[in-house]
Amino acid sequence: MNSGFLHAVGKKAALSGRIVLTVLWILFAVLAGQGAAFASSPDAPTERLLAYAARIAGDDARTRVVLDFDRKPEFKVRYIASPDRIVIDLPATAFGIGEKELAPTGLFSDIRYGSVDDNSARLVLTAARPARLVTAEAVANEDGKGFRLVLDAELVPQQDFAALVAAQTWTPPAEAPKSIDPAQPSADSSASEFVIAIDAGHGGIDTGATGATTKTAEKDITLAFAKVLHDKLGKEPGIRAVLTRDADRFLSLSERVVVARQKGAQLLMSLHADTLRQSDIRGATVYTISDKASDHMAAQLAERENFSDTLGGVELPAETAEVNDILLDLTRRETQAFSISLAQAVVGSFEGQISLINNPHRHAGFRVLQAPDVPSILLELGFLSNKDDEKLLLDPVWREKVADLLVEAVKRYRAPLVANGG
Ligand SMILES: [Zn+2]
Repeated sequence: MNSGFLHAVGKKAALSGRIVLTVLWILFAVLAGQGAAFASSPDAPTERLLAYAARIAGDDARTRVVLDFDRKPEFKVRYIASPDRIVIDLPATAFGIGEKELAPTGLFSDIRYGSVDDNSARLVLTAARPARLVTAEAVANEDGKGFRLVLDAELVPQQDFAALVAAQTWTPPAEAPKSIDPAQPSADSSASEFVIAIDAGHGGIDTGATGATTKTAEKDITLAFAKVLHDKLGKEPGIRAVLTRDADRFLSLSERVVVARQKGAQLLMSLHADTLRQSDIRGATVYTISDKASDHMAAQLAERENFSDTLGGVELPAETAEVNDILLDLTRRETQAFSISLAQAVVGSFEGQISLINNPHRHAGFRVLQAPDVPSILLELGFLSNKDDEKLLLDPVWREKVADLLVEAVKRYRAPLVANGG
């Protein structure tokens, strides 16, 4: 629960505030369409399949994709619109596929594959033109060794693709949203603790940006940094840090928010290190959410960050009018003030200590920052497109320093709240 919000409404109104937030939260979760898709499975991870080779051939009317597996893959095909994608859901799979083996070809403008969580993996074929699979089968290899997954796609009229999407009964692997009841903080949380969610950007099938020189994946940099920050914040009295992910796994943007919320987070920091076309631009940037981007660069970055769900094969909820619901707006405005205060605290801590870009506090419509009642910032630690930034991002000493500055920023942010007994 956002303590500032409670102060604002007063102690007498605290209960109704809680109820309003609960309702808002459920509404948000439903709008986000994710439910508890992240809910950790009680099943022990099974031995992963191995996809050891792949090939693609075809033209813009017909395209064949083949993946070689060590064992027979169970799979499910889904179609998702805007952008048009064919998604193949697989059990846990290790991908030993060469970088060029699935280069976008023919009907497909982008091809991604990777893990989703311990028990599942995914292949996402983004269609340059609407396409459907006329063949999707796992065929035993003639030599008796392994199976190949054969996917034959052909061009279809847009309305046929729309019909395929509409005909699906697939729903996100969500359990009932009961597990997001905000009235029940997790057992290990204590009322006096200030909980901060650290969100390592990207993961699994979504690798994020790639380092200009070292080709290091953004998802690995964000996770390494998140762990350092997690440990440092955890050493502060009265603070508990939680990670939205602690391994190389895919989380949709709304799942990140749901996970943070479930863990009782009172702040969310999403960590990134993206690339820009202008490789000379370097330094950290702190983002807060807004409908209108502060500038072109912010708009571009938000678009790219939000594309994570597309890459991961996530179906986006249709924008609905309820998002603009007045109650949601009021809570958001309250939360927004705290988000801005946190962003300013971070910029204040960084100033003169690490390199910042011009106007380091910017805003845009980042989907990961949309929690209605958890103040949230997105931190671009630096740019992987700049080789000096890249060097720093990979430097453990620099990471420690930046993490220390962030701890300072959190303390600075909290000071007035603590003084008010929050
Ligand atoms: Zn990123």
